[in-house]
Amino acid sequence: MKALEKKMIGKLQMAVLLRTILPVLVMCIIILIAVMLRTRSSLEEEVYRSLEAVAESVVAAYDVMYPGDYVLVGDKVVSLYKGDQELTEDHAYLDSVAESSGMALTMFYKDARILTTLKDKDGVRYIGSGVHTSVISEMERKKAPLHYKTEIETGKYYYACYVPLINSDGELAGMVGTAVTAAEVRREEASASAPIWIITLLGLLTASIVSIRYTNSIVSAVKSMHFFLSNMVAGKLSNEMPLEVLTRGDEIGATGEDIVRMQNAVRILVECDPLTTLYNRRCGDAKFKAIQKKSVESGSPFCIAIGDIDFFKKVNDTYGHDAGDVVLKHVAAELKNLMAGRGHAVRWGGEEFLLIFEDMRLVPAAASIETFIDKIRAAHITYGALDIRVTMTIGLVEGTPEKSLEDMVKEADEKLYYGKQNGRNQLVVTPNEPQPSYRLLLVEEMDMLKSDTVITFSDELLDSENLMKLLSDNALKDIENGDDFVEGNTKSEGEEESDE
Ligand code: GH3
Ligand code: MG
Ligand code: MG
Repeated sequence: MKALEKKMIGKLQMAVLLRTILPVLVMCIIILIAVMLRTRSSLEEEVYRSLEAVAESVVAAYDVMYPGDYVLVGDKVVSLYKGDQELTEDHAYLDSVAESSGMALTMFYKDARILTTLKDKDGVRYIGSGVHTSVISEMERKKAPLHYKTEIETGKYYYACYVPLINSDGELAGMVGTAVTAAEVRREEASASAPIWIITLLGLLTASIVSIRYTNSIVSAVKSMHFFLSNMVAGKLSNEMPLEVLTRGDEIGATGEDIVRMQNAVRILVECDPLTTLYNRRCGDAKFKAIQKKSVESGSPFCIAIGDIDFFKKVNDTYGHDAGDVVLKHVAAELKNLMAGRGHAVRWGGEEFLLIFEDMRLVPAAASIETFIDKIRAAHITYGALDIRVTMTIGLVEGTPEKSLEDMVKEADEKLYYGKQNGRNQLVVTPNEPQPSYRLLLVEEMDMLKSDTVITFSDELLDSENLMKLLSDNALKDIENGDDFVEGNTKSEGEEESDE
């Protein structure tokens, strides 16, 4: 699964990079090819122009130096004359032009080399060799400068230009050829296109670095969100979205924020009880395990308590379920306050709550619960025009590393049961020992019962005479039916539980 996820992410990265760098790369290659072809053709034009100019200048120079026609004299041993001047073997002029221009020069009589600066590897001039027949035949036809890329020596290519030598009768006497090696032209071409190559490659490199960095940041953010969601799917709801995602300020950042909001919503749905917003039983179980684990590791103490609202069924029966809900919410809010910084409050079921005190011994936990019970007893819970008052009974036990939550809840429940059997409205830590003094009712609380709208559901406060006066018709019916919640705690408990 993990490997598959990695592969998918790798695919995404590759796909993004292919779609960003590849087009740039292709574009660069196209630009380079176009530039190279353009450079080559203009360089070749330039080369041919220079070759032709030098050849023309040589033709003109001979005309100036030696006026007259080109004539081949002799039978077996021939000599070329220009006017009165024999040119055969006189390479001085062509050599000097070759040296200054960097070109090879040849003077042909018809198609035969008479003078040339081209030499073989032993330094012997290629005199007497001929030009390709296609060249001389084209020259016969055109009698104008010709350009060729030709293999003059075996395996050695030249850019060559041939300029006609025309005698006074208009006949073609021969040609002057100028040539440079193709390798030389390639070198020039390479040095002319080098800056373009460098600029293009630098551009490609910059584009690649920028797009790799940017796609990396996108892919890394997507990876983070994927990892976050995978954890969520695996039930880990306390992940943190990396800041690099949340601070992006683009659509990916906004998606990251939405995912965090979704996680919070899911977390509330999964971990919290919708009515009271306290942790639900399943989450309470996880919290307990985490605290117990910490306690095992660090040796820190912890306690758990089970609390139950006294005579809660009567609240429902008297004022209806909605009023009961209001009371539950009030108690839950107070439980949240109680457990803030101390641990966790959990809605264990109905009107029962589990409290997990982290890093706390029994005595301070008991003290805080006593204060809480006082607070609940003194609270006036408003529901419409009514002012409802309730009390709570709580059983508290100190945690041990080896006991399961189930066992500990059982122990706490036994204490709670003892409290219920012995007057409710109290914290029970050690049964059969005198309970704290707060169980004795305050006089002013009794006075409240005189009000028409105040009912307190507590052992001590319940006075059947007052209640008969205050309870709604429903509750009256209950009492008439023998559901005596003052004396009949033990008896009615079973029935009421089945109610739940
Ligand atoms: P005791 O003092 O012995 O605990 O008496 P009790 O009436 O509080 O206990 P009992 O278990 O008989 O009644 C609990 C009642 O809580 C019964 C059930 O209808 C009510 N209850 C459970 N969950 C809810 C809830 O979400 N909202 C409301 N309004 N009532 C609830
Ligand atoms: Mg109860
Ligand atoms: Mg109960």
